[in-house]
Parts: sequence; C-alpha cells; structure tokens
Amino acid sequence: MSSAFEAVQSYYERAAERLNLELSLREALATPTREVRVQVRVPMDGGGFKVFRGYRVQYNNARGPYKGGLRFHPNVSLDEIRCFAALMTWKTALMNIPFGGGKGGVQVEPKLLSEAELERLSRAFMRSIADVIGQNVDVPAPDVNTNPQIMGWMADEYARRYGPHPAVITGKPVSVGGSLGRESATGRGALICLDQVAKSRGWKRQDTTLAIEGYGNAGSWLAVLAYEMGYRIVAVSDSKGAIHNPDGMHPEKVLAHKQETGSVIDYAAATTIEGADIFGVDCRVFVPAALDMSVNEDTAPRIKAQVILEEANYPVTVEAEPGLAERGVTVVPDILASGGGVAVSYLEWVQDLQREAWPEERVNKRLGEIMEAATAQVLARAESEGVTLREAAYLIGVERVAEAEIARGYR
Ligand code: GLU
Repeated sequence: MSSAFEAVQSYYERAAERLNLELSLREALATPTREVRVQVRVPMDGGGFKVFRGYRVQYNNARGPYKGGLRFHPNVSLDEIRCFAALMTWKTALMNIPFGGGKGGVQVEPKLLSEAELERLSRAFMRSIADVIGQNVDVPAPDVNTNPQIMGWMADEYARRYGPHPAVITGKPVSVGGSLGRESATGRGALICLDQVAKSRGWKRQDTTLAIEGYGNAGSWLAVLAYEMGYRIVAVSDSKGAIHNPDGMHPEKVLAHKQETGSVIDYAAATTIEGADIFGVDCRVFVPAALDMSVNEDTAPRIKAQVILEEANYPVTVEAEPGLAERGVTVVPDILASGGGVAVSYLEWVQDLQREAWPEERVNKRLGEIMEAATAQVLARAESEGVTLREAAYLIGVERVAEAEIARGYR
C-alpha cells in the first residue's frame, strides 16, 4: 500500500491536472511548506521521564494561518500527519474560511498515561511547537484523543510564555474563550451534509438507516443529532466492538452506557457483534467516524450502504474507492463531511480575536450557512463536470488555494 500522504496526493494531482494549473504552482502545492519534528519529554508519575515524538506539519497558508488539529495516537507518523495537513488545506478552502492547512500530533497511547502525565505531555508538546505557531500563523485544535481540557492546558502553557492569546488554539473550554457549539460541530456539520445528500435523493429521514463506525466526539454527536431529526441509528462501534439493532437505538442512552462502562458493547437494547461486523450491517448510510483507512480493500466489499459519509479523515483508502464506485456506492468525501469542526473553530477564532462570546444559536446558524454552501457547491460541481463528489470537492478546494497563491504572486 502506498503511503497515506501519497495516496491522498493522487486526488490533488488529478484536480491540479483537470484545472490545468501551471507546473511550478502544481509543484508548490504538492508538498508541505514546513515540517517540524520535536522531542517531547514527559516526567512520569513513578519518577524518570519518557521521550515521545511529536510533529507539526504546515502544509499551505496562502488563504490564511495554517489550521488543523493535534492528535495523540500510537499510529502517528510524519507521513500520516503530512497526509492530514494536506487534507486540512483543501478542507478549509472548500469550507471557504480564511485558513490554510496544518496538522500535528504525538506518537503516544494516551490511555496508558495518568491524567497528570497527560497534562505534562500536552504542556511539553505545546512548549516544543510554541515558536512555530501563533494566532495569525498557525492555529491548532483538537483531533483524535485530544479534547477541550487538553486545549485549555495548551492555551495556558502558551500564555505562560507569550501572554494570553486565546485565538492561538481552538476547541478550548468555553470558560477560557472556547465557543459554544464547538464540541458538537463536526457531528452537526456532517448531519447538515447528510441531510442535503438525502434530500437530493428523495430519501425520507425515517427510512434512512445509519451505521456509525467510531463513537467518539464526531460519531456520537452525529448519532445524537441525527436521531433527533428522525434518522434511524442501527449500529455503532468503538475500539472494543459493535452493537446492532435493526429497529434503531437511542444514541444518548448508548453514550451514557459508554461513559459508564468504557465501551458501547453490551448495551442492553442491542445485540453486541464483532467490531469488524459493523461494515456488513444493512443500512443506507455508512459513517466511518474513527481512524484513517478503516474502509479498505478488506472491509469495503462488505459494505451494503448506498452512501458512505466520511466523518473521519481519510477513512476510505484510495485502493478501495474504485470497487465502491463500481457498485454504485457514493462517497461523501472527508474534506466536506468532516468540515463542521474546523468551521466552528474558525468562529471560535473570530470570537477570540474580538473578545466576544456568541450565543450558540448564532454559531449553529453560521455553521449551517457554511456547510450548506459547501455541500451545494460540491453537488453542483459534480453534476456539471460529471465527476464524483470527491473529485468535485478537490476541484473546488485546490482551485481556491491556487487562486489565492496567484493573487499573492506566489513566485
Ligand atoms: N481535527 C479537526 C479536523 O480534522 C478540526 C480541526 C480544527 O478545528 O482546526 O477537521
């Protein structure tokens, strides 16, 4: 299998070709502007310290400060972070918000750390990247295994060195400049996108069944909000297994069960199945909301859904996509379907710069406008150019970044 970065770059290359970008510009957009690799030293509770590897990749900033999350995961590698930094570049452009793209992370299994160790890790990582980020330079945010508390520690660590700059990081707790509606934003954005796709197919919500792989922030919020709107959630999974009930489940009750027991499995009002069996569940919409590359050549052939809504980053591999297309499965691409999080990160940044705090309705309304516009643009472009939704999304994203480069006289 090709590297994750090379794989997603094939989508970029195809768009650049179709847009007929000048060769030098094509080359400039094909690699990151800067890659930072750091050592993160964490004093451990039992004495001594451990050394972890951290990264921040700044892909492109033609449209505004680099923007993208920080993840804590054992799979974190430079190639993976580079892949996500590229995705963020096309994502922020497609959302039409004034940011470029970046991503970072630490190669660590956070579940093996105590709360105090996790705080020291977060603070040490922030110290190690503090001199390459900034509210007008590069603005990190939460991602896999990072959350508002971690953003709060990081904002505080940055403030200790440079004074208070709440806009240097988004996804913070509301008490320190976070935005209402940020935690639910990725789920809400994916739902707005889903709703428009369902409408374009004439689907009724109550007949539209969802299977969601991953029940973290993105997956669980989508489930809760989709259920409220009348969609039926027939299966969900997490790293320990999956649960299934063809009649539908109550996502908030599933979440309460997960919070209590540490997993969705053994939830009473559903059947517990193998984690990998979520791929074969009967449903209209399959939502990968966990890690990258979960829908691959092994799992994709099992999918029965007509639509795959990519709420995670790079969940459907480049290798799996042609087989899905042959079977008539529509993939709603990550740079669209997962754009709600960064859209509200943008609104948080705007509020912080102006020392304002908006009511949640205002945030959600603005998120709705951003998501609806991006989705409508992707659907229209796919239709007019006779291309897939992913190709259309890349055409729009890459075109906007290229336009900004040209407007700045990129040479
Ligand atoms: N980690 C999220 C993403 O992949 C959010 C990034 C952000 O808010 O900057 O889109």
